[in-house]
This record gives sequence, structure tokens and C-alpha cells, in this order.
Amino acid sequence: MKALFLDAVGQFALRDTPRPEPGPHDLLVRVEACGICGTDRHLFLGEFPAKPPVTLGHEFSGIIEAVGARVSGFAPGMRVTGDPNIACGRCPECHRGRVNLCHHLQAIGIHRNGGFADYVLLPETQAFALPPSLDPLHGAFCEPLACCLHGVDLAEIKPGSSVIVIGGGVIGLLVVQLARLAGATEVVLLTRSESKRRLAEGLGATATLDPSGGNVVESTVGPHGAIPGGADVVFECAGLPETVEQAPHLARRGGTVIILGVLPQGVTVALSPFDLLFREIKLIPSFLNPFTHARAAALIAAGTIQVAPLISRTIRFDEAADAISHPAGSGEIRVVVVP
Ligand code: NAP
Ligand code: ZN
Repeated sequence: MKALFLDAVGQFALRDTPRPEPGPHDLLVRVEACGICGTDRHLFLGEFPAKPPVTLGHEFSGIIEAVGARVSGFAPGMRVTGDPNIACGRCPECHRGRVNLCHHLQAIGIHRNGGFADYVLLPETQAFALPPSLDPLHGAFCEPLACCLHGVDLAEIKPGSSVIVIGGGVIGLLVVQLARLAGATEVVLLTRSESKRRLAEGLGATATLDPSGGNVVESTVGPHGAIPGGADVVFECAGLPETVEQAPHLARRGGTVIILGVLPQGVTVALSPFDLLFREIKLIPSFLNPFTHARAAALIAAGTIQVAPLISRTIRFDEAADAISHPAGSGEIRVVVVP
């Protein structure tokens, strides 16, 4: 089979490799689609540690080709999505039910071979069924959606809540949809790109604003802003120091800020403890997808969350190394690799 290996930091190679043999509890999955995530670029650049040589790709779905001898509940021919994050089940955090904080967390596509390949091995504990009728490209959105679901769970949005989402990438556009689904009546998206703002309005944002130039806080939550006084919940989905600093100022008194964006290790930001305390702002980071992958699969299977408009283009294997190693084009949301 063909697989795209990260051989070292900054070095990809597409090559033939033996098809992996499923262990007793593994599924061998023929990859139908695998999304390119910003994390793949960080791994390529050495900004997050990977374990080369390894095949990247953690947003994959496909069809089961073969199953290990002890697998039950899955059979060849079924379509599945994989939760790439494998917790040990034995450390103190796993025992507390905090599997995303596992001391020995391993991820498919980071520490083990992933989805930029014809086939990927998926432990049965990490597999979730998708309907045969589903567009194969849509399965690749279960993983990012599962991460957004964790953030939305932590936010405790109530019917009638107001929400501000910073950043109109795939994460921000999924959060917009989940916030509406959770009952928010006002969902304001801040992103610079005009095309992403139009798209967000079609996906349920009640208003969108261009944050470039001017005073974002004043124009969004000032007396004449979209949500005067601030939102019940603010989601930071841009992953920049300035947007993390901005987020608490967009929340109302007693409001909640959910940090989904990942900033490079070592980056620090300026926050005002006085302001956080006196306005009792809850600042909650949201990491990965603890126990949310099944619900993400259900939402994708049911078509409740729109993902087709988030696919900017599909590419083949031989174009993947180039696409991963370069920053996304302007207005581009998600590029999906189809083996
Ligand atoms: P992305 O495609 O890079 O989206 C970020 C968006 O932020 C960009 O599309 C950009 O759009 C917008 N942006 C840039 N500057 C801005 C500003 N000043 N104000 C408002 N928006 C601004 O990334 P993504 O895939 O959606 O992921 C978003 C973040 O979540 C990343 O940091 C990623 O690493 C992280 N993430 C976290 C988890 C988790 O479990 N916590 C899981 C997956 C991803 P414009 O050009 O339109 O401004
Ligand atoms: Zn653990």
C-alpha cells in the first residue's frame, strides 16, 4: 500500500509499505478520506513532537477491510470513523474519567501510523460506525467535531444564550453550528475573511464581524455593538495571543470563555486577574474529545451538522505533502486527502 511518511522534521516521503496486519482487537480500515489539520503542519515543522518515521493523519474515516480474531460488533464492509486519541485506561486521570488528560495518551497519526495511507489500523475501542449511505468525505469531520463538542459541553450553553465565536476556520464554523443546536439565539462570528463570514451566516451565525481594524471589543460588545454588554459564552477558535487576550473582554459579567485555539508552547498572553475576578469570568480550556466521538459520529451520520461547505478541495496523495507543508490558502477551510 502507499503511505505518506513523516521521516523527520520537515521531511515527507510517499512510499510503498506492507499493508499492516490487524492484531486480535484491531480493524484494518481502507481510508476513504483524511482531513489535513493545522496540527499536521505543526508536526511537520517540529513545533509539536511526533515519532518519525510515522504516517500522519488523525481525521480519517473509511471502510473496514478486515477485522482481528477477537473483534466483535464490526465486520468487513462497514464504514467507520476513528477516534485517534487512545488513553491508557490505567493512569490516575483515566481513573478519574479525564481520558483526554491521560499520562500516556497516544494518538493515531502522531505516535502511530495514521490516515494519510491506503489503510490504517484502528483498535476496535476507537471505532464508531457510520452509515453506508454517508458521503465518504463527511466522515473525516468527526474528529474536529468531537473536539468542538467537548468545548460546547464545557460552555453549558442554555436555550436563549448569547455566543461570540472568534475565528472562522473549521473549528469556529463547527462551533457556530453546535452553539445554535445547543439553543443559543445569538451567535456572532468574528473572522477577517469575507467568504468565511458569508458562509457562517448560512450555517447559523446571526451576525458576523470583520475584526481587522478598529476596536473589536467596542464594535462587538459596546453599547452599539452586536451583543451590548458581552456574550454569555465566548469561544476562542483562532489560536492567537491577541484573540486569547480579547476573549474575556467579549464576555458578559459572569460569562464563560472557552479556549479551543492552540498556541505554540511557551507563548504567554496578558490577562487581567482583577478584571477576571471582579467580573467572575470563567476561563476554561478545552482539550481534545473525551467521550464525545460517538455523538460527533451521530451528528455527522444524521446530517445535523453541515460539513460539505467546509470542504475547500480534495487532493490526492501525491499532492498531500505539499498541502501539509504550506500554510492554507486564503479563504481555504478544510483540505481533504482522498487516497
Ligand atoms: P484555522 O483554520 O487556522 O482557523 C483559525 C481562523 O482564525 C482562521 O481561519 C482565521 O480566519 C481566523 N483569524 C485569524 N486572525 C483572527 C482574528 N484576529 N480574529 C478573528 N479570527 C481570526 O484553524 P482551525 O482548524 O479552525 O482550528 C482553530 C484552532 O483550534 C487552532 O488553533 C487549532 O490548533 C485548534 N484546535 C484545537 C482543538 C482542541 O481540542 N482544543 C482541536 C482542533 C483544533 P480569517 O482569515 O477569516 O480571519
Ligand atoms: Zn491514562
